[in-house]
Amino acid sequence: MSRVAYVNGAYSAHGEAVVHIEDRGFQFADGVYEVWSVFDGRLADFEDHMTRLHRSLSEVKIDIPMSAAALGVVLRETIRRNRVRDGLVYLQVTRGTASRDHAFPADTAPSVIVTAKRLDLAKGQAMAAKGAAGVTRPDIRWGRCDIKTVGLLPNVLAKQAARERGAYECLMYDEMGLITEGSSTNAWIVDEDGRLRTRDTQANILRGVTREAILKLIAAEGIELDERPFSVEEAKRAREVFVTAASSFVMPLVSLDGVKIGDGKPGPIATRLREVYLDQARRDAI
Ligand code: PLP
Repeated sequence: MSRVAYVNGAYSAHGEAVVHIEDRGFQFADGVYEVWSVFDGRLADFEDHMTRLHRSLSEVKIDIPMSAAALGVVLRETIRRNRVRDGLVYLQVTRGTASRDHAFPADTAPSVIVTAKRLDLAKGQAMAAKGAAGVTRPDIRWGRCDIKTVGLLPNVLAKQAARERGAYECLMYDEMGLITEGSSTNAWIVDEDGRLRTRDTQANILRGVTREAILKLIAAEGIELDERPFSVEEAKRAREVFVTAASSFVMPLVSLDGVKIGDGKPGPIATRLREVYLDQARRDAI
């Protein structure tokens, strides 16, 4: 029997159903989902899943794409078209399709995807009768920011927080109040004593390629570096704050949470590093 999927208002063959490559679910994991179990073609715990869906959407500030009643119709129609008696129906709602930028796109409708599949309840019953095995692992959700994954929803929310406050970047801090990195950049300061500092990469941050390139340039420029975490307060008292990334090169931040950094103008070290980085990057690009 051929399966059918619902994607943004249309039902199509499961094997041909697609979302756009710029869908934010694909680009950023910028979406939420729900799963209902289906018994005799009917949805179990319908309201509770709907409540959690609405909560998830609200927490990540994605618009509710359609009323619960309308969504119920789509879920049931997908179940019907797939002739699912007992099984599961999956719903994904993403922030939609837009040109890639961490911050929320303007006027983009959420994407809605619904798929359904049959389950062999007898198999589950047999397993339950015997019992199943379990294993343990450290919970690393998500303590692996060293991996450049597309699981960027926290970064998206941080960047959006910056945009909503008229800022370029959001510097994130850990439970100790120490800055980890920017939402899509590595963070640096020239502290109040004039020391250039950036957090070491033992910590849970991305090892920025631009950061590495800057480290080499710093050595060549004879600038001393203190690879040590710094707090939000230290950053606010710093002479300079700047961020680095392939998309920003070296970008001075002249205020943090509205607090002026230094004299409120790009400082000499950030300005120099931007210049030498751009020179070298242009020259060595292959
Ligand atoms: N940190 C995060 C979380 C990033 O997403 C990025 C770049 O996208 C960076 C740091 C900087 O990395 P790179 O210099 O390799 O662009």
